Amino acid sequence: MLLTISTTHEPATDLGYLLHKNPAKAQTFDLAFGQAHVFYPQAAENICTAALLLDIDPIALVRTRRGPAGAGRSLENYVNDRPYVASSFLSVAIAQVFGSALGGRSKDRPDLVDKPIPLKVTLAALPCRGGEAFLRKLFQPLGYQVAAEGRALDEQFPEWGASRCFDVTLECVMPLADMLSHLYVLIPVLDDDKHYWVGQDEVEKLLRHGEGWLADHPERDAIVRGYLKRQKHLANDALARLLEQDAGDPDEGEEQHAIEETAAEEKTSLNTQRLGAVLAALKSCGAGSVLDLGCGEGKLLRLLLGEKQFVKILGMDVSFRALEIAAERLHLQTMPEKKRARINLMHGSLNYRDRRLEGFEAACAVEVLEHLDPPRLAAFGRVVFEFARPNTMVITTPNREYNGQWETLPTGQLRHKDHRFEWTRAEFQAWANGIGERFGYRVSFLPVGPVHPEVGPPTQMGVFTHA
Ligand code: SAH
Repeated sequence: MLLTISTTHEPATDLGYLLHKNPAKAQTFDLAFGQAHVFYPQAAENICTAALLLDIDPIALVRTRRGPAGAGRSLENYVNDRPYVASSFLSVAIAQVFGSALGGRSKDRPDLVDKPIPLKVTLAALPCRGGEAFLRKLFQPLGYQVAAEGRALDEQFPEWGASRCFDVTLECVMPLADMLSHLYVLIPVLDDDKHYWVGQDEVEKLLRHGEGWLADHPERDAIVRGYLKRQKHLANDALARLLEQDAGDPDEGEEQHAIEETAAEEKTSLNTQRLGAVLAALKSCGAGSVLDLGCGEGKLLRLLLGEKQFVKILGMDVSFRALEIAAERLHLQTMPEKKRARINLMHGSLNYRDRRLEGFEAACAVEVLEHLDPPRLAAFGRVVFEFARPNTMVITTPNREYNGQWETLPTGQLRHKDHRFEWTRAEFQAWANGIGERFGYRVSFLPVGPVHPEVGPPTQMGVFTHA
């Protein structure tokens, strides 16, 4: 099992300082499952290559019980491909042998740590679950040029066909620590074998080494599940935490938000009127199942529960804290069984397609739109109208034109600091009509709250129905 890392950054021998390994000597490190050798096949001013060679001891694997999972003490413990393929042991070795470099620390070249430098990585015999296509999907979005050469299972017996291993070359320009953290996470994803116990601390390691790139990776879900070897509860935990990272810190200020927003709108008890208007729209469409997207602390959920018509209610929010408060306020724990069977809460984000949102007759997003970053609005549109596809969807959002009417709101300000934007009536209607056209919905617009002759109502509501 061999990993090489080359750079043409000059002086290329700085690679030795970044890796904390002197190019002039070969070194050997004892690991729990064998030995790691580090040496430099070339070390010149214009190009320098470091090699990490892993020498896995299958007997040591058995002794430390790190052999293939489920194999018991059978022959497979002793005869397997672990010593030869670039399996997740390589990740462990990277962390142990190049720990400082992985952590982005260099005593002698601190300025170079964050600097993108040209890097070329070769991995011999990298097992690729999902084949070359999956390999590309993992590395290309991170900025790598990927070359992969398939290997025959046995060159002497071509009729045995191709093995699942590839010789892989990755080229990129990035800080060394970034590249190492990509390898650390992605090599075990490609290798399907469970070789060590995956526990809660693996979630921590995944999040730590995935920081800054994993939350936005298009294959994020596959990476998390693959890394955690399909231990569903751990993968769910990690994904939930990544969703939170992705949305900034959704809990931050959420409670404060509720207080401030209520204070600003108190005079007209706009909040109550709004919930009433949404509830009326949901009831009148005849739906039995309803989705409250961005349900927050569950004020609408409580009203929905009060209506027998709704037999299946799902509240979803990106803020785990808000969901906890909702569960408490609704007394989910002590709710009679029959009522409890009608409602569920789920943690998720409107930025991503989620199959759990499919199959509902009606849905709503009450004062949520304005919390989404404008570039995410397109994703929101698809998540709701293309994938979840309820028959009726109710959206409310502030009408910015009305803001001058709030005595407590300084001119030009949005109603809350977490609002990314607030739309005029024309802006909301243009967006909603565009959505309607694109996904085949008719939209009607209704005012919520006292309508001012010039600036309209404080809240605007769009009701989308399948055309
Ligand atoms: N609908 C509730 C809460 C509105 S506040 C009410 O009317 O009282 C906005 C809510 O949207 C917050 O709870 C926030 O956590 C949630 N939210 C923001 N971005 C989200 C996203 N991407 N996915 C799901 N919920 C989100």
